[in-house]
Amino acid sequence: MSIQKFANQFVCDLVAYEPGKPIEETARELGLEPDSIVKLASNENSLGPAPSAIAAMEKEASGVHIYPDGGGYKLRTALAEKYDLGLENVVLGNGSNEIIELLCHCFLNPNAELIAAEHAFVVYKLMATLFGAKYVEVTDPDFIHDVDGMADAITENTRLVFIANPNNPTGTLVGQEALDRFMDRLPDHVVAVFDEAYFEFLEDAPDTLKYVREGKNVCVLRTFSKAYGLAGLRIGYGLAAPQVASILQKARQPFNANSMAQVAALAAMADEEHVKNTLDMNNAGLRFYEQAFSERGLEYVPSVANFILVKVGDGDALFQNMLKKGVIVRAMSGYKLPEWVRISVGTEAENQRCIEVLDEVLPAIASV
Ligand SMILES: *Cc1c(COP(=O)(O)O)cnc(C)c1O
Repeated sequence: MSIQKFANQFVCDLVAYEPGKPIEETARELGLEPDSIVKLASNENSLGPAPSAIAAMEKEASGVHIYPDGGGYKLRTALAEKYDLGLENVVLGNGSNEIIELLCHCFLNPNAELIAAEHAFVVYKLMATLFGAKYVEVTDPDFIHDVDGMADAITENTRLVFIANPNNPTGTLVGQEALDRFMDRLPDHVVAVFDEAYFEFLEDAPDTLKYVREGKNVCVLRTFSKAYGLAGLRIGYGLAAPQVASILQKARQPFNANSMAQVAALAAMADEEHVKNTLDMNNAGLRFYEQAFSERGLEYVPSVANFILVKVGDGDALFQNMLKKGVIVRAMSGYKLPEWVRISVGTEAENQRCIEVLDEVLPAIASV
């Protein structure tokens, strides 16, 4: 008899997350030099890590035979100070993805429901499936989360509502008023999760930390993977009221945030110049893509994050054809958006190369 029969069925049923295509893999398959490949597929920071973060890691390297501080004292203290919260509000994760998993670990079971938007970040659905919970999808007209509709969808079995703000892959934001309205309707048996992976890119960010300070059942997710350029280290965090944070702390591995990640994050946080350079690059890049798409008559979703969703016809074909020319974008068929691709904003040179290659391959796509 197959061992599959004895494995956890929820795990066996899972369709694995498909990440952006790695540069090394692409180089191997196409016989290209890794340096010649432009990857705009995973919303990474093309400027790299902050120089101060690299220096902190170099200093830390000789000490990695020692286990990390499992309590993450220095980094959690710095985060608490930055946001005017207490140490008890901060939970570190192996990327904010781990906090998503911890939330599901702590609050889901086969009788529970998780609510998210139709075009939400796909990890929520994977995690709901992993824990056998019911995944409830609420339509998002014009690609904007309908948080009133999400509040309407809450039942006695709902345990988690995920609001990605801004959302990936749509790049759209829900404003303060709508969030306040949603929070006014949040019943005691539900945790609201605000996934703010792109928070640093926002000019006019809604305040969700006030809900944490008010002691509401919320968890705000942030990460060092995007604006801070530390995606490879896997370091993110949740900011939550003590009654939520203390449950998450119990579920995590003792050393889930590694020592290199902790020192690099601490250094990156203090490097305001690197963040400013990143935002300047991103704003210029977003304007560049908007103009390029408009000139070509391509529909796009105006974005406040570091990526942009554009309608190209056959997204998979465009992805494959651009890949052959060494530019990696992200096809969106996994998000039920087969006509769209998502392009991360890179450096000026990367963005220009991307549009050049797009121009080379678009006619072929349009004619099939
Ligand atoms: C990138 C991303 C994350 C998390 O990334 P980590 O690298 O695990 O911190 C979380 N949520 C959304 C919506 C994202 O796009």
